[in-house]
Amino acid sequence: MTGENNNETDRTGNLQRVRAELTAAAQEVGRDPASVNLVAVSKTKPASAILPILAAGQRVFGENRVQEAAEKWPQLKRDYSDIRLHLIGPLQSNKVRQAVDLFDVIETVDRPKLARALARIMEETGIRPDCMIQVNTGEEDQKAGVKPLEADDFIALCRDQLKLPVRGLMCIPPVGDEPSLHFALLAQIAARNGLEQLSMGMSADYPVAVRFGATHVRVGTAIFGARE
Ligand SMILES: *Cc1c(COP(=O)(O)O)cnc(C)c1O
Repeated sequence: MTGENNNETDRTGNLQRVRAELTAAAQEVGRDPASVNLVAVSKTKPASAILPILAAGQRVFGENRVQEAAEKWPQLKRDYSDIRLHLIGPLQSNKVRQAVDLFDVIETVDRPKLARALARIMEETGIRPDCMIQVNTGEEDQKAGVKPLEADDFIALCRDQLKLPVRGLMCIPPVGDEPSLHFALLAQIAARNGLEQLSMGMSADYPVAVRFGATHVRVGTAIFGARE
């Protein structure tokens, strides 16, 4: 939310504040706070900014670029063996091998070609990161994600045909829209497909997302401060 700061002490303070707000939002709607996972989005931030957040006990992180993550995270993962790294940005088919190697969760499965590439590489390597399917709830042309009306078929392709380890759905609501409409739609698609995980909510709206059932919120700015 607002008031985030950039230096190290403040970043740890930001983290504590986000955690407290997540707990409060969960309790307000009678959810177990432990059912909400905070994904700290560290894109564009150097390892020196990430280390204090790791020291404060945070272990789940999100990056939106495979290349950037490949430069920062192998060393951090050696130092902290229980890190869970989420890919939250678009994945090109030619980067699938690298992504499967590096990420523990791929949140942005959004088209058949990518799903098939993931299935092939998982088969070859035996490495099977959890997958989420990105839904373009606002049906925006410039945004990735499967359209809401095509979601059921795409989930079936990924899960039943290609046997991907699909755990849930992810969305990025259109800027300026009321996010709760998109959160409710995502929750509805997940429920009718028997999927348990919902990745939704960012710095501006994560408490709302928790009220609508988010199991993963992706929070960058509110923890790390503004990006360049
Ligand atoms: C950058 C990013 C976030 C975090 O956004 P903030 O507003 O900084 O919290 C969340 N999800 C995705 C997909 C992103 O690319």
